[in-house]
Amino acid sequence: MVDSCIMADEQEVAFDESAVGEPEIEPDESSEQESEKEPDESTEWEGEYGEAGCPIWMGEYHGDVRCGRKLHVAPDGVDEKPVCLMHSKDPHKQSGPLFDAFCLEFERVLGDAGEYLARFQRFVFPQLDLAGRYIDAICLFVEATFMQDADFKKATFTQYADFAGTIFKQDANFSDTTFTQNADFAGAIFTHDADFINATFTQDVSFAGTTFKQPGRLHGANFAQNAEFTYANFEMDAWLLGATFTQNADFGFATFTQRANFSNAIFTQNVDFLGATFRKSAVFSDATFTQAACFTDAKFLGTADWGGSRFLDQAKFRSTEFNPQIEGEPSAVFALANFYKPGEIVFDDVDLSRALFHNSDMSQVRFTSSVRWGTRGNNRGLAVFDETIPVEQYYADGLKRGGQRDYLAVAQIYQQLKKNYDSRLDYWTANEFHFGEMEMKRLAGPTDGPFLWLRQWFHCKVSLVALYRHASDYGNSYGKPMLWLLGILVLFAALLPLPGVGLKRQGARQAETYASVWRTGDGWTPNLWAEARLAGKSAITSVDAATFQKSAEYAPAYPCGRVLAIFETLLTSTLFALFLLAIRRQFRR
Ligand SMILES: [Zn+2]
Repeated sequence: MVDSCIMADEQEVAFDESAVGEPEIEPDESSEQESEKEPDESTEWEGEYGEAGCPIWMGEYHGDVRCGRKLHVAPDGVDEKPVCLMHSKDPHKQSGPLFDAFCLEFERVLGDAGEYLARFQRFVFPQLDLAGRYIDAICLFVEATFMQDADFKKATFTQYADFAGTIFKQDANFSDTTFTQNADFAGAIFTHDADFINATFTQDVSFAGTTFKQPGRLHGANFAQNAEFTYANFEMDAWLLGATFTQNADFGFATFTQRANFSNAIFTQNVDFLGATFRKSAVFSDATFTQAACFTDAKFLGTADWGGSRFLDQAKFRSTEFNPQIEGEPSAVFALANFYKPGEIVFDDVDLSRALFHNSDMSQVRFTSSVRWGTRGNNRGLAVFDETIPVEQYYADGLKRGGQRDYLAVAQIYQQLKKNYDSRLDYWTANEFHFGEMEMKRLAGPTDGPFLWLRQWFHCKVSLVALYRHASDYGNSYGKPMLWLLGILVLFAALLPLPGVGLKRQGARQAETYASVWRTGDGWTPNLWAEARLAGKSAITSVDAATFQKSAEYAPAYPCGRVLAIFETLLTSTLFALFLLAIRRQFRR
C-alpha cells in the first residue's frame, strides 16, 4: 500500500513535469512526451529498484518499455519469475489489501495517462469494474489477463482501445460500450461469456483470430466502420442478431462451431464469408445485404437459412459447400428471399439438391452449368427439395396449405426455374423442370367440396394432365407417344375383325369377322391362314384409319367398326401431335 502511494507520488511528479509543457503545442508535444517520458520512467524505476525491478516487457507496440515496478512477493510457484503486483498471478490479489493496491495503481496509471497512453500490457487483472466510465486514455490491454469478470458495461472509450491477445478468464461485459476510436480484439480469448450487446464501434474494429469459447453475444452491435472477424473462432453460439455493419464486414475463414445467428443483421457495404465454416445452422433470415455478399468456399454443415433476407446487390455462392449432416434437413433455405438484382446472384459449383426456394423468385438468378440439382427417379428430370421435404418440418411451414403440401407453390418454383433456363437457351435443363412443373399441377388436386377423395383420385390418375403425363411425359418424351401410337394401331387391328364389328370388302354384303372366316369343315392350317389374311387386312385398315385414308379395299363395317375407326383416328392423331410437340421441344432452337 505504502509502495503504491510512493509510486503514485513519483509518477505524479513525472506527469506534472510533462504537463507543464503541454498546453502550447499539444499534438507535437504529446508524441514527444510519450517517446521521451516513458523510457525515462522505466530507467527511473530501474534506478530505484535496479535490476531488481519487474522484468516484464510491456508490449511490442508503441515502443518497448520495461515495467520496472517493485517486485511483489508472491507465493511459491505462482509466477515463473518474480514480477510486480500488476503482473503477478498471485491469487491473493483477488481481494483484500493486495486488491486495493492493484486498483490504486491501475487508477493511477489511468489518471496519469490523461489522454495519452495508459499501459496495462500483460497486466493480470483481478475483478475489474469500469462500468459506465469515460476512459480518455489510449488503453493498451495487450496480452493482459482478466482472471475475474471484466465489466466495461456502458463504458466509453474515447480513444484507441487495444485488447489484442487479451485473455478473459471469466465473463467479459462490453454491452452498450462505446468505442469512439479503433478497437482491437485480435487474437483475444474469451473463456466465458463475451457480451457485446448493443456495443458501438465508431471506428474500425478487429476480432481477427479472436476465440469465443462460450457464446459470443453481439446482438444489436453497431459497427460503423470496418469490422474484421477473419479467422475468428466461435466455439459456441454466435449471436449477431440485428447487428449493423455500416462498412465492410469480413468473416473470411471464421469458424462457427455451433449456431450462428445473423438474423435481421444489416450489411450496408460488402460482407465476406470467404472460406468460413458453419458446423451447425447458420441463420441469415431477414438480413439485409446492401452491397456484395460473398459466400465463396464457405462450408455449411447445418441448415443455412436466408429466409426473408434481402439481397440488394450481388451475391456469390461459388464453390459453397452445402452439406447438412442431419438426414432430411434442408441445406439452404431461400424461401421468401428477395433478390433485387437477380442477374447478380451467382450460384456456381454448388449442390442445390436440398435447397428450398418457395415464395422467392429464382427466374433470373444465375445458375452456372456446374450447379447440381436433385433428381427425380426414372430419369425423369430434376427436382427441388420443396417437393419432398416432410411438411411437418419447421422450414416447410411456408409450403403448407390446409396441412397439405402446397403443390402449386412448388409448381411455381419449377416454372421459374424453367423460365430461367429457357432464357439462357438451355432447353434441356428447362425441360427437366417442365416435368416437375406439370407433375406438381397433376398432384395439386381439389382441396375441398363433396366426394373429395374421388375427385382427387380422378385428378391425379385420369385428368387431362395425368393423361398428358402417361402419353408423353408432359411433352418431354417423343418415344412414348410413338410407342402408344404403335400400340393403338395394333389394338385396333386386333379389335376390328371381332364378331359384331367386322371388316367389309367393297361391294360385299357381309362383313368379315374372326368367326366368319373360320370354316368348321377345314383343317387347322387353312383356317389359321384365313385368320392371318384377315389380320393383315385389318392391320392395313387400322393404318388407313390412322392416316385418314378412305378409298381402301376394306373398310370397317357399319356401325361399330365405323365408331371404332373414328375413335382410333382421334387417338392416333392426338398421339402424333404429341409426338411432334415432343420433337419440337427437344430440338427447338
Ligand atoms: Zn510489472
